[in-house]
Amino acid sequence: MPPCDTGSVAGLLFLLAHPDDETFIAGGTIAKYAAAGVEVGVICATRGERGKTGDICSREDLAGVREAELRDAAQILGIRHLEILSYSDQALASAPPDEIRRTMVAAVRRQRPQIAVTFDPNGMNLHADHIAISRFASDAVAAAADRRWCPETGETAHGGALALVRTGARV
Ligand SMILES: [Zn+2]
Repeated sequence: MPPCDTGSVAGLLFLLAHPDDETFIAGGTIAKYAAAGVEVGVICATRGERGKTGDICSREDLAGVREAELRDAAQILGIRHLEILSYSDQALASAPPDEIRRTMVAAVRRQRPQIAVTFDPNGMNLHADHIAISRFASDAVAAAADRRWCPETGETAHGGALALVRTGARV
C-alpha cells in the first residue's frame, strides 16, 4: 500500500449506528488512516441487538456477540477510541435528542477530530437507524463547536473548524 498523505488530518471520528457499520462503510479508510498515524475514533450508537443472528448465537446473546466483534474490528483496523452506546437497535430515531446530543458533543470534544464522518441523509441504504444517526451526528458536530451547547462537557472543539463528511463522499 502506498504511503497515505494525511495532510493536516490528525484525527477522524466516525459516528455510526451499528456494530459492523465501521467495517462496511469505511474499513479500508479507517485502516489506511490509522496505519498512517491518524487517531481514529468510533462512536457506535447501538449494540445491534435486533440484527440477524445468522445461527451464530441466540437472540439473547446477539448484543454481546456484536459488541465483541466490534471490539475485535477496532483492534484489527487500528481504531484507538471506541465508544459503544446502548440506544435501541432499530429504534434509534426514538433516542432522547437532548441526551444523545450531549453524549456525542462530549465525545467530539474529548476526541477533538478534524473530520467527523457519518451516513449521508438517506442513511446510505435508507435504514432508519442510519438516517437517525446522520441527523444526530450533524446536530452534535455543529453543537460541539458552539460553546453555548452542553457547556458542562468541556471546551469547544476547534472553534467551529470541524467538518462533517458523509459517506458517499471521499474522506
Ligand atoms: Zn448499520
